[in-house]
Formats: sequence, C-alpha cells, structure tokens
Amino acid sequence: MLMRMSTLFVRTLREDPSDAEVPSHRLLVRAGYIRRAAPGIYTWLPLGLAVLRKIEGIIREEMNGIGAQEVTFPALLPREPYEATGRWAEYGDNIFRLKDRKDADYLLGPTHEEMFTLLVKDMYSSYKDLPLSLYQIQTKYRDEARPRAGLLRGREFTMKDSYSFDVNDAGLDASYQKHRAAYVRIFARLGFDYAIVKATAGAMGGSKSEEFLAKAEVGEDTYVRCTHCDYAANVEAVEVRPPAPVAYDDAPAAHAEDTPGTPTIESLVDYLNAAFPRADRPWAAGDTLKNVLVVLKHPDGTREPLAIGLPGDREVDQKRLEGQLEPIEVEPMDEAELAKHPALVKGYIGPGVLGEDNKTGIRYLVDPRVAEGTRWVTGADESGRHVLDLVAGRDFTPDGTIEAADVRDGDHCPHCADGTLESARGIEMGHVFQLGRKYAEALDLKVLDENGKLVTVTMGSYGVGVTRAVGAIAENSLDEIGLCWPRNVAPADLHVVAAGKEEAVFAAADALVAGLTGAGLDVLYDDRTGKVSPGVKFKDAELIGCPTIVTVGRGVADGVIEVKDRRTGERQELTLDGAVDALAAIVRG
Ligand code: ATP
Ligand code: MG
Repeated sequence: MLMRMSTLFVRTLREDPSDAEVPSHRLLVRAGYIRRAAPGIYTWLPLGLAVLRKIEGIIREEMNGIGAQEVTFPALLPREPYEATGRWAEYGDNIFRLKDRKDADYLLGPTHEEMFTLLVKDMYSSYKDLPLSLYQIQTKYRDEARPRAGLLRGREFTMKDSYSFDVNDAGLDASYQKHRAAYVRIFARLGFDYAIVKATAGAMGGSKSEEFLAKAEVGEDTYVRCTHCDYAANVEAVEVRPPAPVAYDDAPAAHAEDTPGTPTIESLVDYLNAAFPRADRPWAAGDTLKNVLVVLKHPDGTREPLAIGLPGDREVDQKRLEGQLEPIEVEPMDEAELAKHPALVKGYIGPGVLGEDNKTGIRYLVDPRVAEGTRWVTGADESGRHVLDLVAGRDFTPDGTIEAADVRDGDHCPHCADGTLESARGIEMGHVFQLGRKYAEALDLKVLDENGKLVTVTMGSYGVGVTRAVGAIAENSLDEIGLCWPRNVAPADLHVVAAGKEEAVFAAADALVAGLTGAGLDVLYDDRTGKVSPGVKFKDAELIGCPTIVTVGRGVADGVIEVKDRRTGERQELTLDGAVDALAAIVRG
C-alpha cells in the first residue's frame, strides 16, 4: 500500500493538545492518527486506521488459528437478555441506555456474553456441536466514570471478544488454555512487554481468570510479582495468606484503659509506648486494630453501611475493596451517615458495637490477618478509651473476612514461604476467564449429553482491547521525538522522504517507491514539493514513527540513499541499485 504525504488526510501539530494527559495520547493526536469527537470518543484518521487494521489482522489470524469463528453482533441491543442475567441493573451508570420510538429499552453493548449465549442456544442443541469458540471484533460502549488517557480508557472502543462453549469443566479448561496460548502469541507479535497476572473475575462471575498487562507507568492497574516464585497477580486479586491460629490460653483478659487524645493510630501508638510500655519491643501501628466505616451503594440504589477491621498500619484500598464487591460501589461514610449510629464514637470505634449481632447491626468484615487468637489494641467505643489484649475469636467474632487492605512491596508472597512481593503498574490489554455456567444458567443454554440428558453448557469469555492496544503500544514504544512503532503494527513499513528540490531527487524517489510497493511493502512517501523543507519532513517522519526512514536526497547524484532506524537512530547508506531488495530484507528481518 502507498500513502503519499502530499495528499494524505493528515495535519501534524507542533503543539500538544491541551486535554492530553499521557504521552501516547499527545503524540497520537499530534502525529495525526486520531481526533477527539467527544470525551472518550475518537475519530480515526488514515494513519490511525492503518495501525488499528494491522492489530486487528494479527488478532484475527491467531483467533482463527485456534479454530474460533468470527461473527459480528450489533452494538444496539435489547434490554431483555441483560435483564435476565441481572446486568441491566448491575451496570448502573456505566452503560448507555436508550429508548426506541415505541418506548422500548435498548442499550449500547458494553460486552456481549448474553448475546453469544442466546445465539448458541438458538442454533445448537447437542454435545456433538461442542466445543465451540466464537469471536467478534466490534465496537463497545461504556459510560466510564473517568475516561482518560485517550485510547487507553475510552467510552467507545473496539474489543475483540470471544466466548467458548463446552459440555464439561475439562472442556472449558482446554478452551481456556487455547485462548491463553493464542493471547501469548498475539501479544508477542504486537511487540510489547507484558505480564500475565491472576485476576478477580469481577462483574462476570466465574472462577479462573488472568489478565495480560502491558507494563507501563501510566497504567491504572497495579500488579505484584513474587521475588522468589512465579506468583503474579493484580493487586485486586491478591489473597493474603492468613496466619495460622495463635494459641491464646495465657492471654490476659481484655481490659479497657483511658487513652486520652488518641483518635489517630499515631497518637495511640505514642500514648501506648508512654503509658503501657511493652517488655519485648515498642508498640507499633500494626498492633492496633483500626475499624473503617464505608457505605456500599448497591446497583438498585440501596445503601448499606459496612465496617472493615484491619491492622492499624494498613489502609483500605478502594480498588481492592470494590474488586471484591463488584458491582457494588463503595463510598467513605460521611459525618451525616455516621451520626445516624450514635454508638459509633469517631476515632474510638471498636468491634464491641460492630457486627450483625451487636449494637449497630453494621456488618463487620476483617482483614485475614485478624485471625483467631491474634491480640489487638482497639477502640473501646468511648471517647478517649481503648481496649488492650482484645483477642479475635475470644472477645469478638467478625461476620467474615475481606481482602480490602492495601498490598505493599515487601509483603509475604501468598504462595511460597520465601518470597516477598514487589509491585509495578500496567495497562490491562487482555483478559481471559472461565465464566462457568452463570450465563448459560440465566439464559437456559443446555445441550443433550452423550446419555441424552440435558446439561447446562459451561463458558469462557476472553477479551482484547483493540483500540486500547493502539494507545498502549504507542505508550510502550514512543520516545522524546515521537511515536516509534514496532514493525508489525506500524502504519507503513517504510517512510520514504524525498529531500531536496531537484527533479532528479523526485525521479529517483518515485522509482524507488514504485519498486518497494511492487515488492509488496507498505510505504508512506513524503513527496511534498514547494515550501515543505527537508527539516519539516524529517520532523514529521520522526513524529509519525514508522520503523525505517529512507532519505532520498543529494546522494542520488552518486547513486546512494540513506536509511535510518527510527528506534536506534542508526544510519546506513545503501546504493540505489539493489535498494529495493536491501530494504525488503530490513523490513522482513
Ligand atoms: P478495566 O479494568 O480496564 O476497566 P475491564 O476489566 O472492565 O477493564 P473487560 O470487561 O475485561 O475490561 O474488557 C476486555 C478488554 O477490553 C480489557 O482487557 C481492555 O483491554 C478493553 N477495555 C475495557 N474497557 C475499556 C475502555 N474503557 N477503553 C478501551 N478499552 C477497554
Ligand atoms: Mg477485565
């Protein structure tokens, strides 16, 4: 394919767009790949579309490679299937809803589990038809609370979503592994650095689930890796290993003490060390049990208070908490709400009043570290007083545990004895998970098994963010002068610059470009004449970021052209004679 800069629908900008927060967004707009149409909604220009199509092509090849078949659903969908699975309500503000002229409810699809399930139900009825994997590459709509970073979190975006259908768990596992392997190949071909991490299943329900995260500082996901074993997980999915139950036979009885002016953990620890010094070591924040109150906002609008108990040296991590509770949203409890529960004494809240069987009736969930037999200092539910030697399981019994405490570098690995965790940030590029029978049950997708018995189908669901990949790859590869695409996804294989005014330069460049396109290479040809100086052309070539920049300039008089590697900046000269073969060899590696 040939794109000519003289006619290409593009305007490169020297200035950064004012609304762009991350480098990839700035450069994709400046280099003329995308334009903003509305918040989180983008128009694709020819250069952007060229990259998008290449990514789609790679994904399509690998999906077809595992025997998945492509279909396409509409984006405009009826309410009923989403009502049947409960997601019409669960999605809350996060989906675009609309009505037709007859006042019937529709939505713009945020993801298509329901539709795929119904399609298979429509067409298949026997175990002999399975396993089956279907996919689409299609536009999704989500009214994200915080669209950001250009293509990285849009409100309209392209996703490849696929779904597997099996009669039993072993079949689902095989389909899952096939998809996972295809994703490994896709992300290797897309050419970026990624990690595969354990994930929570979130709103989808189901069990086994992993995410493919592009390593990036600007990423919204934090994941941890073990320094010792191969454990890696999104922090949302980290499950703290609870300590073994501690014997508490010789623990003294709990006793409330005056601790005036100690509403914060820090002031409490200082007071304890002054008034009740320990023989073995000083008191630390981790010896205290902190109780945090939040309000859960259920999808149907009801609000429920929740108390979370955790060691005083930890904070509640909102994302982790919401990850456990999805689709419920979480807000801190404000003063007005707190005032509704007179038994809650701010700064001195203890388990004495918490729990479904206690004074407030507020559900009380604790961090797994608050295990049976552990001993704590915590609020006495009176201003200026704390309880010491309060033993979990003896003096109070929470309603359950929850993974809400923040995960830190240096925390023990939940999977091995020797390792500790270290964290990094990433962008979620893909997600594979075993849905199980949730959707098939809700929508009654059953097939006859070998014995003629009706069995519910088990499903997997697998997504790749296609437009997000354009942003993430850009982010992963750019440098201070512009975009810098990996070869497999670049808008063109070669950016040929005719640098000079002489006719001989253009004649040589025209001939070279004809040879290159004839050899099947994609070329972006800067054939602009007139006032466009070589300097401007080079700047544009660097900004646009094709992997190889070929300059046809004064050297043509001696039969030579210059080739520059966009990434390394390395230059080499080639003779015009044989240049097509030499350049094809560079492109094809
Ligand atoms: P996130 O946690 O980033 O919101 P998600 O878990 O909601 O993503 P999935 O429902 O698993 O996303 O969707 C599959 C893939 O679609 C994601 O892995 C991601 O690459 C992409 N994706 C999801 N939301 C967006 C968005 N708002 N903009 C662009 N791509 C998205
Ligand atoms: Mg996900």
